[in-house]
Amino acid sequence: GYVARSAFKLLQIQKQHRLITPAAAVLDLGCAPGAWLQVACQSLGPIAAGGSVLGVDTKKIKPPPLHCDSRVRTLSADVTTLPRRRLRALSPAEKGFSVVLSDMCPSVSGITTKDAALSFELAMRALDLALGDRIHGPGADDDDDGGGGVLRVGGHLVVKLLESEDAKEINHISKPFFKKTSWLRPKATRPSSREIYLICQCLKPT
Ligand code: SAM
Repeated sequence: GYVARSAFKLLQIQKQHRLITPAAAVLDLGCAPGAWLQVACQSLGPIAAGGSVLGVDTKKIKPPPLHCDSRVRTLSADVTTLPRRRLRALSPAEKGFSVVLSDMCPSVSGITTKDAALSFELAMRALDLALGDRIHGPGADDDDDGGGGVLRVGGHLVVKLLESEDAKEINHISKPFFKKTSWLRPKATRPSSREIYLICQCLKPT
């Protein structure tokens, strides 16, 4: 099976929205221990179909052997300081990714407002990486990137958030750039958890 129960969340997202198609170029932010890597690679279909998955996490991980093949690579890095330029250089033909997933979450303090704030920051970072100058305007970014996000036109973005007013704000920010955005609370989510996924489909051309 899968290395973590979180696999079933991405499986449900896949079932409902079919974001990962054969030959997709997937970026998985906060990939450890690797269940989403397994589901993402499985969703690419047979190896001959091509495609790739790049996972990033502060924790060092090896892609789990089951369901992950040579199309899956991982990078140990902190997403909050990883330049877009570096990620772009790691994308197929440096053309960016067709799907960006973020299941990142902070180590939970138990203080509701603090956890929600940290989770909002990580989600904003995922949005930053995906959309780049589109949300800041050129030159407004102080990391050393210069330029666009790593999500290709027509691509999809999935971001985990903790339910809060800030979470709605992320939807307001991203909505104009996509054909469709929606919320999904997977059945595999523990009843006590406030996590929810923002699904952004089909990035519009600039
Ligand atoms: N989707 C994963 C899976 O299915 O195996 C589970 C992800 S887990 C819920 C959240 C992950 O986010 C943790 O492994 C954590 O290390 C990672 N994370 C949190 N902050 C991060 C950051 N700033 N940079 C990279 N990874 C981060």
